[in-house]
Amino acid sequence: MPEVLSVRRREALRLDLEDQQKALIEEVCCLSRGLIAGSSVPRRFRSEQLSGEVPELPEGSKAAERLEAKARRLREISQTLARIDHVDFGSCECCGDLIPFGDLAADATRRCCDGRCGQLPGQVPT
Ligand SMILES: [Zn+2]
Repeated sequence: MPEVLSVRRREALRLDLEDQQKALIEEVCCLSRGLIAGSSVPRRFRSEQLSGEVPELPEGSKAAERLEAKARRLREISQTLARIDHVDFGSCECCGDLIPFGDLAADATRRCCDGRCGQLPGQVPT
């Protein structure tokens, strides 16, 4: 029987992820509003402000990159929340060992023990 993450620890991670998710949603909203309000964004994006959709942004703009990074992180967190109740959650996807809880607490979206097992994804074992 492989080791699994305890219910208490799972709950702690869930609460933390939900907090991060809320904060990120706010940030993404603020960032996209700021971009929409800015003169560099064509007027046609303004109507989308109301729908809460992230508009398509001009490429290469710093603010757009920041928004993209936040949106990516938000997606990671949502995906992590979606699988947090799964029995495998907290186990390394490469070696199957339980990821140290300290590492999960620092970043619950991690899916690997980070090469401690010598099987970092995409890396040839030496
Ligand atoms: Zn591993």
